[in-house]
Parts: sequence; structure tokens; C-alpha cells
Amino acid sequence: MSVRTRVNTVAVLGAGTMGSGIAQVFAQAGRTVLMHDPIPGVVERAVGGIEKSLEKLVGKGKLSAEAAAKARAALRPAAMSDLNKADFIVEAATEKVELKKQIFIELDKAFPRDVIFASNTSSISVSELAAATTRSSQFVGMHFFNPVPLMQLVEVVIGLQTAPEVVDFTCGLASELGKTPLRVKDHPGFVANRVLMPLINEAIACLSDGVADAKTIDEVMKLGCAHTMGPLATADLIGLDVCLFIMEVLHRDLGEDRYRPTPLLRTMVRAGRLGRKSGRGFHDYA
Ligand code: NAD
Repeated sequence: MSVRTRVNTVAVLGAGTMGSGIAQVFAQAGRTVLMHDPIPGVVERAVGGIEKSLEKLVGKGKLSAEAAAKARAALRPAAMSDLNKADFIVEAATEKVELKKQIFIELDKAFPRDVIFASNTSSISVSELAAATTRSSQFVGMHFFNPVPLMQLVEVVIGLQTAPEVVDFTCGLASELGKTPLRVKDHPGFVANRVLMPLINEAIACLSDGVADAKTIDEVMKLGCAHTMGPLATADLIGLDVCLFIMEVLHRDLGEDRYRPTPLLRTMVRAGRLGRKSGRGFHDYA
């Protein structure tokens, strides 16, 4: 098996919350980034958001104006059919198994054999996604955290068939982005979400039981447990639909009642109150 280790161009699929952040950090690290999203206008909106984020970094003195201009120039909206010019893929599309499998089946046909595929999935089995391709040894999880430009960690998720050199290469690439890669096995929720999501779920249960209001629950965890952000505000940042999906995966795949999603979480998602991205979740962002 040969693996492409010269990565000048990266394709990022999905230009939502995570895809835009991932595109930004690759562009800041000197890579050309092909950005693709099937919904018209989404890539353009993401590029606008990245421009603002780069401006902020310049304003804070964390990035030179020249480096920001270079990063901006590295972003290229691209059609699905143009992505195969990339040397590395990061998929950050909506958290749906069948959708992601379909994306990877299509990419697998279009890409040279030596290109590594990475998925930013929060909770779908990396081994299962890899099995949809003919390159399961060159398939890895690259789990970034939100907001990507600020968060230090990348969980590098090792699928059942991921080759050790692919894991090493992905860790090296994450380091080049200025991140800290930590290796974890493909297991429901990996580490971060296996620990974080039940905490969020329990905070929602406290709210549902009327133990305290949302603001108080978050303050308790900040002031009493030294969390920089309360669990309900964290859920709003992640997106309540994403939180619900991850809880469902933990519940189904680990099979224990303690992972059952709190009904209020489900109701919030059904009502379209998804957190920051919809303007309202447990807190109001209007
Ligand atoms: P999002 O809803 O903000 O964005 C998803 C994007 O994927 C949308 O713009 C959608 O149009 C696009 N998309 C849909 N079908 C596509 C296709 N066929 N090809 C390319 N793009 C497609 O979601 P998000 O929060 O950015 O999550 C994306 C991924 O990142 C998910 O797998 C999620 O689990 C994971 N993740 C999310 C967080 C978080 O905090 N939100 C953190 C880590 C990982």
C-alpha cells in the first residue's frame, strides 16, 4: 500500500459549522482548500465567516495581515467532480450514516488509490464508513472540535483496518495545523463524546426536572466544577441535533439505559430549536 504524503491540496466536504473551521485551519497552514457543499450559497457563506474570523485574528495580533490574505486566497469553492485534484480528504458533511457512505462511495471511484480519506464524524463508526470504500486501510477518523480554529484537540480515530502509517501521517498533519492529535480507537463516541454527551444529557434532565433554570445549571458547572462553558451552552454550540444523534448512537451501540436521550432534547430538536445555528436552543442568540 502506498500512501500520498505530499499534501498540497485538501478537499473539505461540507461547509457548515465544522467544515468551514477545518477549511480555515488547513488554509492557514498553507494548503489549498477545495470546499464543497451541495446546498447553494453555503460555501460562499462559509468563506465570508472565515474572512471575519481571519480579520479577528489579525485584530488580536495573532496573525499577520499578509498570512490572513494568503489563507483567504487558498480557499476555492469546488464542484464534487473537481475534488479529485486533492491530495487528502476531510469529510464534514451532515451526521447521517447513509449520506456519508454515499459520499465516500462516490469519492472512492474518483480518487487515486494513494489518497487518504478522513471523516470528521462525531459518532459514526469509522470502520463502517471505511467498509463502504475499497481503501479501508487508508481511512481514518480526524475528529476536530468546535470552534476548530480555537480548539487544540484532534481525536485521530483508528478504524479496525486503518494502517498504522495512515494513523502516523494523520497525526503529523494535525500537528502541522497547530493541533494536538490524540489517538483513540473506533468505539461509540470515541473518548470526548462518550464522556461529554452523557454530561450534557444529564444537564438537560436537570432542566426538564425543574431542578434549576438553564442559566443556573450552566453557572453551577462553571463556578463549581471549573468548566469554562456550561453544558447547556456547550450543547447549543455543538447543535442539539448533533447531540441527539450522538446520544442515540451511544444508547444503541452501548446498549445501556444510562445513555437514553432525555426526552426534552428530542422535543427541542423536533421544534427546530437547535442552538446557536438556529438562533435559539437552551439559551437565546437572537
Ligand atoms: P452542519 O449541519 O453545520 O454542516 C453540515 C454540512 O454538510 C451542511 O452545510 C450540509 O449542506 C453539508 N452536506 C450535506 N450533504 C452533503 C454532501 N453530500 N456533500 C457535502 N456536504 C454535504 O454540521 P456540522 O456541525 O458542521 O457537522 C459536520 C460533521 O462534523 C458531522 O459529522 C458532525 O458529527 C461532526 N462534528 C460536529 C461538531 C460540532 O460541534 N458541531 C464537532 C465535531 C464533529
